[in-house]
Amino acid sequence: MALAKRPTTDLTTQTPFQYEAAPEAVDHVRIAGSYDLFIGGRFVAPHSRKRFATVNPATEETLAQVAEADEVDVDHAVKAAANAFRSWSRLDPGRRARYIFRLSRLIQERARELAVVETMDGGKPIKESRDVDIPLAAAHFFYYAGWADKLEWAVPNRRLRPLGVAGQVIPWNFPLLMLAWKVAPALATGNTVVLKPAETTPLTAMLFAEICQQAELPPGVVNVVTGAGQTGSMVVGHPEVRKVAFTGSTEVGKLIRRQVAGRGKRLTLELGGKAANIVFEDAPLDQAVEGVVNGIYFNQGHVCCAGSRLLVQESILEPLLQKLKVRLGTLRVGDPLDKNTDVGAINSKQQLEKIEGLVESGIEEGAEVYQPPCELPARGYWFRPTLFTGVAQSHRIAREEIFGPVLSVLSFRTPEEAVEKANNTPYGLSAGVWTDKGSRILWMAERMRAGVVWANTYNRFDPTSPFGGYKESGFGREGGLHGLLPYLDVD
Ligand code: NAD
Ligand code: MG
Repeated sequence: MALAKRPTTDLTTQTPFQYEAAPEAVDHVRIAGSYDLFIGGRFVAPHSRKRFATVNPATEETLAQVAEADEVDVDHAVKAAANAFRSWSRLDPGRRARYIFRLSRLIQERARELAVVETMDGGKPIKESRDVDIPLAAAHFFYYAGWADKLEWAVPNRRLRPLGVAGQVIPWNFPLLMLAWKVAPALATGNTVVLKPAETTPLTAMLFAEICQQAELPPGVVNVVTGAGQTGSMVVGHPEVRKVAFTGSTEVGKLIRRQVAGRGKRLTLELGGKAANIVFEDAPLDQAVEGVVNGIYFNQGHVCCAGSRLLVQESILEPLLQKLKVRLGTLRVGDPLDKNTDVGAINSKQQLEKIEGLVESGIEEGAEVYQPPCELPARGYWFRPTLFTGVAQSHRIAREEIFGPVLSVLSFRTPEEAVEKANNTPYGLSAGVWTDKGSRILWMAERMRAGVVWANTYNRFDPTSPFGGYKESGFGREGGLHGLLPYLDVD
């Protein structure tokens, strides 16, 4: 057959290379049937006598029953933290550093166990919890251990005082990592903590409570109260909580801001996002495709800084989309405990329904949907990696945070138009720029209203680097030297 007449292979329909199953061992992990609250250095049964189940979203099996803290429980936890504050805040900073360093070392020692539990409780691929979540959590404690006795170099020639009890409420997308972002700077600056993990992913916080015991952290310095939004609201509203740190939805962030208004509490909010990942025509396309995939399909898109809006320069729209579709076909969706899995389970049934609803709206509003062929497990909560083309800026899928593996593709012609489209959102947490030109990166970064701008990379985190938003993505910074300031009174 003449070469010219050969049918062109449509790479997008080719089945990906098959791998044998490679499940991570779970026999080294011990999950208790039920977990109490961690208050004053001990595990105590809840006054409420209530418990709720946390399930494995990949199997829908119940993993454990967890205590639901009521007002009395939260009050006990805050009192324990207030008591501990008296001595912890006066402890020699070098000794505080050693405790925090110990927490970091114990997280490293128990990394395999923590990674497996994180994956079972939340549905994220084991390669992510093993290689990203847990090492970064340890790195955070390690980094802030270093600051504990050097605060006067962080803010020179000023009088620094810790605030007191910090009430911290965290989400389910990076459970142990968000715990680390909250707890490490609070302890380094001499505050004590009442932490409320998310209701679908409380287990690594309970293991962290065990780690606090192992580290012989003074009782009450860290307290963990489990429960749903109501428990979170009690932590936030408790009069002895001097500082509130919240990561989660913009909707709840607004509620919290109202709740603490006029109460003299310090507040930081890390909320949603709808980040633009912008690819210019001079970008290396294969690298950009990897960055786009990492930007939106990492952690099933349950990432506040996910690159959920892809802005592509018009001249390369077609070739980029072609490459992207091929790449989507190679993503492995399925058992989060399998070491080859790229996209795991959606965190909860509720979140799955939210994603399904928004995808439905995209189709109804006239965007064109693409999903690679892939088989999904019969049980559990799953969603195929999804890409929308023909997206208008007015579509809900271009405006609202989906928090799932769903990418909306838009195009632009000039850098000015890219900036305008990128900033056309109530959010402002992050952005990505892909280009060969350094000057263009700086030009773009100056004009984008986003807390983090990644250049020729995406979703890269480091404890030394501050992170946080503009506009409805919240305020305050976590990480780096900046992350110390929300926990200090500076005179
Ligand atoms: P959420 O904001 O309801 O939950 C986050 C945390 O806040 C949880 O621990 C929850 O128990 C607690 N909470 C809920 N209501 C509260 C209240 N009134 N006072 C104090 N604490 C309260 O988030 P969600 O319902 O789990 O997810 C909904 C959407 O939020 C997602 O679809 C996503 O768009 C967004 N989200 C963003 C992030 C982020 O990192 N920015 C994380 C999780 C979810
Ligand atoms: Mg769970």
